[in-house]
Amino acid sequence: MMADTGDLHGSCLCGGIRYRAALPVFHASHCYCTMCQKQHGAGAGSYANVASAGFVIAQGQDLITEHHSSDDGRRGFCSVCGSNIYWRSTESPDRIAVTLGTLEPEYAGPVERELYTDTKPAWLPSLKPAR
Ligand SMILES: [Zn+2]
Ligand SMILES: [Zn+2]
Repeated sequence: MMADTGDLHGSCLCGGIRYRAALPVFHASHCYCTMCQKQHGAGAGSYANVASAGFVIAQGQDLITEHHSSDDGRRGFCSVCGSNIYWRSTESPDRIAVTLGTLEPEYAGPVERELYTDTKPAWLPSLKPAR
């Protein structure tokens, strides 16, 4: 179980960017859209959705590049090492989705949602059945 209060902490591969995000996580998801697959170079982008008001870049703001992947989508990544830090939408500025793989320690909460399952790669294993 994750506490409802406190902070998540994350960093990029090179360590240049460090951030924190205030709990709670509204939901966590694996997104299989083709944009996430391309950006992450992986079968999914995995995210924890948190309040943007509680999201703070503690170090390395100048290293973040935002790719405009769609009209409203902004994908923030480290311009040195390429780590994907967040996804945000200009249409819902109150939320930001931080990448589960950059969190330290490892994300301890559940991942409740799978998005764009129509483009989920066949080579990915399935999640365990819902309880
Ligand atoms: Zn980096
Ligand atoms: Zn996606």
